[in-house]
This record gives sequence, C-alpha cells and structure tokens, in this order.
Amino acid sequence: NQRWSLQGMTALVTGGTRGIGYAIVEELAALGAVVHTCSRNQTEINERLQEWQSKGFKVSGSVCDLSSREQREKLMETVSSVFYGKLNILVNNAGITMLKPCVEHTLEDYSTVMSTNVEAPYHLSQLAHPFLKASGNGSIVFISSVAGSLALPRLSAYSASKGAINQITKNLACEWAKDNIRTNTVSPWGVKTTIMIPKPDSPYVEEFIRLIAGTAMPRTGEPEEISSLVAFLCLPAASYITGQVISVDGGSMFHCND
Ligand code: NDP
Repeated sequence: NQRWSLQGMTALVTGGTRGIGYAIVEELAALGAVVHTCSRNQTEINERLQEWQSKGFKVSGSVCDLSSREQREKLMETVSSVFYGKLNILVNNAGITMLKPCVEHTLEDYSTVMSTNVEAPYHLSQLAHPFLKASGNGSIVFISSVAGSLALPRLSAYSASKGAINQITKNLACEWAKDNIRTNTVSPWGVKTTIMIPKPDSPYVEEFIRLIAGTAMPRTGEPEEISSLVAFLCLPAASYITGQVISVDGGSMFHCND
C-alpha cells in the first residue's frame, strides 16, 4: 500500500548517530526510504552505518558540523550527488541544549545554541529547497520541543531557539506549498537520550524529576515514540498536513497530580 510506504523516497536526517535521530533513521529506512545522515563524529557514523547495513537498511553518512555554514553547504552537495538531485524528506533533528539561568548564559552560549538549533535547520531547508521541489513530493520535519511553547526553568536560549522553529514551520508551509513541499514540526517532551544525561554535579536533576512526575503520563518518552510521528508526517498518507506543530509528550501540559 503506497500510502503507508516510503519506498523509492530519499531522506536526509541530521544527527542520526544517537537518540531521536537514530530512531528516525531506522523508522524511515524500515518504511523503505534511502537515508543519508550526518553528525560531527566519523567513528560513530561508521559504527552506525555498519549496524544499519547488517539490518538491511540503505543508509549513508558523512561528517558535518551543522553550526558551520561551509559545512552545511558541503553536506547538501553530498546529499545532492548521492540522491541525484532529488530529496523527498529533510528531517532537521540535530540540536543541542543549554541548561543555565539567563544571567549565566554567555553570548557564546547563546550563539552556539542559535546557530545549531535555528540557523542550521533554516539554512539547510533553504539549501534543500531545489532538491525537495525536484522530487515532486517534498516533506520537511523539524524537531522542536515542548520547551518552545512554554517556559521551563533554565532553558531561555534553548526555548527561544525552539520557539523560532515552531514559527518557521508555519512560514515555510505557506511559501512552499506551491512547490509540493509540506513542513511540519514534532515537539517532544523529555526523551531518554544523551542530551538528557545530566552532568554529575547538576543541581537540576531533582527539579526535572519533579516536572516529569506532575504530567499526565509521568515518564519520559522513548526515541521510537517520537520517530513514529516523524515518519507518519513524511508518508503520502499525511499529504494534507502542513504547517503543524504537534507535541509527542505524554500529556505534559496537563497537571494531573491528585
Ligand atoms: P542527542 O544529543 O542524543 O543526539 C543529538 C544528535 O545530533 C547526535 O547525533 C549528535 O552527534 C548530533 N549533533 C549535535 N550537534 C551537532 C552539530 N553541530 N552538527 C552535526 N550534528 C550534531 O539528542 P536528542 O536525540 O535528544 O535530540 C534530538 C533533537 O530532539 C534535538 O533537536 C533536541 O533539541 C530535540 N529534543 C530532545 C528532547 C529530549 O528530551 N531528548 C526533548 C525535546 C526535544 P554529534 O554530537 O556526534 O555531532
């Protein structure tokens, strides 16, 4: 059934070596897509590519520090040549966090978060636009965060970066619908990945546990619980969905403590 398959489609997933990105690569590949991924660590990329090859998934990978403009341009040249100028799916997943009170953020902290979490997905979308258009059926999925639409403690720059992604989703949906490109965002709550491993001396672990405990489903999510929605949004079955910011959060907005 073609509505529920990505057979014959090509995808770029940023930050696929770990966490949510890793699950997204596997989900898209299992549905039949050919995937390219990137991260900053060649050794980790090689290990993942071997794993995926042994599972029968068609995945390639290359090193790219997404905070560098030149490296983003090089990545998109690679993607264009690997996929012969046609890209169906761009998943802007890679991101970093910064857990500090506002007054402790340095300007460098702020610009590292913004260049990785906003400038990179925005620029990659621009660079991918001709290839998404050429595919005749393009889909961009951004990975934002529940932190992008409410105020969580000590996440001011990170939250601002995710709020920007939520807005970009809507503008690109308007501008690129005529090119048959849909744009959506998935917003997770806490997911068990390396981004969530607190530094051993972090004073905020208990605060975080309290936050999770107060939600409808008082647990963190699994990467596969995020990747399933990402994949759905890329399927032909989702062909009328664009400009949406959808939470996968176990009901994090509901405060259900008795
Ligand atoms: P991880 O830290 O587990 O994985 C991040 C991935 O992105 C890795 O592959 C990492 O590889 C890559 N990456 C990070 N920075 C760069 C960079 N500058 N250039 C290229 N690759 C990079 O994070 P998650 O899987 O948890 O996060 C994925 C996305 O989900 C992020 O956008 C995050 O903000 C969002 N999110 C996560 C939540 C969570 O609780 N886990 C909750 C809400 C949103 P490497 O470091 O080797 O480059």
